[in-house]
Amino acid sequence: MDKYVCLEHVELAMDEIVDETEEYPILEELNTEEKKTCEYCPQPAVYVVSSKK
Ligand SMILES: [Zn+2]
Repeated sequence: MDKYVCLEHVELAMDEIVDETEEYPILEELNTEEKKTCEYCPQPAVYVVSSKK
């Protein structure tokens, strides 16, 4: 499970993954070439939050 998020929504995504998997997620900074949009708003994503499973 990967969630692409902007800076504002990192915590929200991490909370959701913790709720769903009961594990602390992996947080990685996206390289600027990746043009992804935040899952929760129209801003460009800055981080990807992923579960270990
Ligand atoms: Zn956002």
